[in-house]
Amino acid sequence: MTTPLPSTDGVRVAVRVRPFSQREKNSGSKCVISMHSGTTTTIQDPKNPEHRKTFIFDLAYWSHDGFQKDQDGVLISADPSSQFASQTDVFHDLGRGILDSAWQGYNTTLLAYGQTGSGKSYSMVGFGANKGIIPKVCEELFQAIEKKEGNEDYQVTFSMLEIYNEQIRDLLSRTKKPGGLKVREDQQLGFYVDGLKSVPCENYAQIERLMEQGTKVRTTASTNMNASSSRSHMVVTIQFKQVFLDRHLTKQSSINLVDLAGSERQKSSGSEGDRLREGSRVNLSLTNLGNVISALADAAMGKRVLHVPYRDSVLTKLLQPALGGNSRTALIAAISPADLCYEETLSTLRYAERAKKIQNKAVVNTSMLMRESKAENSKALLMTETFPHLLNVNEDPQLTGVLKFFIQTGTRHLLPRPRPRPPLHLPLQTLVFFRISDKHASFTNLDGTVMVTPHGQCKVVVNGVPIVAKTKLQHLDRLILGSNSAYLYIGFPAERGSEDLSRFDYDFFQLERAAAEGVSVDKLGAAGRGDGNADPSVLAVFQDYVKLMPLVAEANQMGEELDKGLRMELKVKNLASSDSRGYDLQKEVMVKVTHQRTHEVWIWSKAKFINRKFLMEELYQRFLEGEASHVAREDDPFWDPVEAVHLGSAHVWLQPLAYCMRLEEQVDFLNCDGTEEAVLHVHVTPCSPGGQACGDEDVVMDPLELLGKRMDFQIGLVRCLGIKWLKERAERGVQIGYRIYDLSSTFYTKPVWKTVNPQIEETVQFTALNASQEFLNYLQTNALVVELWGLQEGCAQLSSSQPDVMVTSEGHIMVDTKKISTVMDTSQTTSNQISELYMKLLKLEQETELLRNVNRALREENVLLKHSLQKVASAKPARKPSDTLKVPPMPAQLPAAGDSPHVSAQRAGSDRELAMALKVFYQSMNAARGQFLRLKHYKPPDDDGLLRPFVHQQSQRLKDFGELLESSLWRLKSDVARIVREKRAGLLHPG
Ligand code: ADP
Ligand code: MG
Repeated sequence: MTTPLPSTDGVRVAVRVRPFSQREKNSGSKCVISMHSGTTTTIQDPKNPEHRKTFIFDLAYWSHDGFQKDQDGVLISADPSSQFASQTDVFHDLGRGILDSAWQGYNTTLLAYGQTGSGKSYSMVGFGANKGIIPKVCEELFQAIEKKEGNEDYQVTFSMLEIYNEQIRDLLSRTKKPGGLKVREDQQLGFYVDGLKSVPCENYAQIERLMEQGTKVRTTASTNMNASSSRSHMVVTIQFKQVFLDRHLTKQSSINLVDLAGSERQKSSGSEGDRLREGSRVNLSLTNLGNVISALADAAMGKRVLHVPYRDSVLTKLLQPALGGNSRTALIAAISPADLCYEETLSTLRYAERAKKIQNKAVVNTSMLMRESKAENSKALLMTETFPHLLNVNEDPQLTGVLKFFIQTGTRHLLPRPRPRPPLHLPLQTLVFFRISDKHASFTNLDGTVMVTPHGQCKVVVNGVPIVAKTKLQHLDRLILGSNSAYLYIGFPAERGSEDLSRFDYDFFQLERAAAEGVSVDKLGAAGRGDGNADPSVLAVFQDYVKLMPLVAEANQMGEELDKGLRMELKVKNLASSDSRGYDLQKEVMVKVTHQRTHEVWIWSKAKFINRKFLMEELYQRFLEGEASHVAREDDPFWDPVEAVHLGSAHVWLQPLAYCMRLEEQVDFLNCDGTEEAVLHVHVTPCSPGGQACGDEDVVMDPLELLGKRMDFQIGLVRCLGIKWLKERAERGVQIGYRIYDLSSTFYTKPVWKTVNPQIEETVQFTALNASQEFLNYLQTNALVVELWGLQEGCAQLSSSQPDVMVTSEGHIMVDTKKISTVMDTSQTTSNQISELYMKLLKLEQETELLRNVNRALREENVLLKHSLQKVASAKPARKPSDTLKVPPMPAQLPAAGDSPHVSAQRAGSDRELAMALKVFYQSMNAARGQFLRLKHYKPPDDDGLLRPFVHQQSQRLKDFGELLESSLWRLKSDVARIVREKRAGLLHPG
């Protein structure tokens, strides 16, 4: 016998692009993938369509379009010109390769990589009639064995495991070992899983049954532990041994078929900004697989690689032979065609590119014959479907419809959860296992009617609506039991038709639940666009909301079982908030966490919540396994130090300031849902540098008159009224903060505690030394957004960090300093020099202003003198009235050279009156703006019965709003008309 030479071969890499999912179609996705000549894949950047990247792999499968269903439901090419790649095509290349290698005695491995929902399981396992590589390989293997005649014996064993959180679970075993099975190392065998069941099989039907059972266990486990299958790796191993009896020789091949966890977890940035590290074990295996592949790819490119980290994770230990070792390996990279997935898809293609470089050295595994005993075969149980039953619906379509709960005649309680051993088979009367409380609900099947009754406080949702009493079930009702166990109710055989059950998928359940909770694209503000299409950012928030909804329910349930006393709620940040110009702010989902006993409140971002949920799952798993689930407070994913909580914002429109008018208002603090949190009494007062409030005589007609001048104003927060945060809990406190114009820091008031109507009385003076056009524009179009923050016992108060705030010589805070900053930024001077320069500049500005004033006074005096001189020299008649009337009444100008002193004085008088009229007008416009913003955010009630009063109220508000506008305009018009009349009369009859 000769020693077979190792054959060096690279990892074969295939890419496969799937059709659009329903969700992608609904949101109008565009395809960013194209493929050519069976090997080339091009991806286009949706934000920058000229930017394309091309990858060449061994195989490129176009399964996106160009297909149709045959009578058995199998997807086939729609016509001969279609480049569509079917399951058969994929099997033809990859599956056959696996079988050939196996027959030759090589180890072989196929990995499916890609983000969740990209089609990994579709290629590996398949759906229904569209069988994937795993069943087809097994089927063909046995077909080939059956055809063999001769003095040979064939042994096939099958095992199936799952790696979740770095723990191995035997999917063919009825018992779950706490902590999972262990990976051990053997000098000869390398790494292996100790105690893993490897079941000998004699035909394909046996394998099919084992796979079914394995999937059942996987589904049950995923439901029981609130664990998503997208985060677990599934490894199917077929040991194939050929025994050549006459030659006393064996050839052995290990076929590993791996459906990897969703790759999107790899770069989970959830822990960014979180106190706790990322839930690391969740994706350790996948991250480390990437590290191993990178190291091997580097080595293949001639780089010096000191260490390949096989040992750093469970998966890489098991896959060691497949990666740079004794195996022929292929990788199928599954990708989504949609523009929304561009980043993920690109990263999958890059990953595949690296994997392609790996070089393996596969050898034929032969050895001398030794006899082995056979383990007993396992049996499966048939089920009958004449009873009404519940069919499970999982987030992962592979795990949907795997579990059935038959409702036989009589009353059935949901059993206590079978911790820690789910049975492998589901006998008729056995109920499915929910991660829900003991005796969750009962089902009765009497007189041809099935009823469900929730027990105690247990959650049962039927068709999106929670039920509290006995409820009759109808064929195809949707049930959610506990946090997130979804079931489709299948009625009596007589009720069943030929309906398509596949439309009741996971998305259907979640959308239905969201709609029942009053969350829909419309409610999130899509209506505002006017073109009937939802704003993409609103759609994105909606998708996030629906996706997070079940996760929040699960987190609540884990918290409940772990006795954390927390309540988590999904909220939409900025649902009804506007920026300083009144435009809607970017919306995002967030999670509000409330401690039920202490009433402490936290706000978590989406990323933080996702990270925390991983960590909660780790803790929960320990709890389920009976391990101590106690953690130090600092490490507890359910705990955080308390922080100040954003309660709401109020808008104070600054327009009057642009006319040097004072404004004093009561404005509402509105929370993210648009409801009132408190009322703020505030004033914004133009003043002199010394802080003296300006009077009516300082009002200007045109903000441009203020251009280049010094402007001083005070923002005074007087008091707050009716703060809800304090009505809820009297020991709480508040702080108020605001930021104005170009200042980078927020000014916070001092904290006030334990009072619902606190007196604030804080006034800050701001100065624009040289009011710029931009600043004046800002005042006319923007509001000061004042934020209300809730303080709770033990939380740090908010403080104004003002490192780069500049102050005037009087100590006022300077705004509109761009010009000064530019001078300071460009000068390469030390800070001392900067402040020196700045002081000089300040002085210069003040001197210039002084000179300007002197100049103006001199000019006026000059004009006066000229006039008296002229009067004395020639007794000329006054100008004709018609000439004077040509001076336009609006906008009024400052007294200019050429006017007589009398006209000047008379004009200044009418200007002041006009200013007063304008002041009244702007003030009412302010009220109108406030009303308009509030009107914009009123949302119709969920209850249809309340719709009529709502519409009535809304039209009343619109009427009031319209009247306010009308009366303000009318008043302005009549005031202006009066002033013009008076002015004309004054000019016609001077003196
Ligand atoms: P993954 O395992 O990567 O999470 P799945 O294999 O479950 O993704 O695929 C997600 C969905 O897309 C499933 O409903 C599946 O039927 C569908 N799908 C995936 N690939 C294809 C394909 N090549 N042809 C048709 N449908 C596909
Ligand atoms: Mg899958």
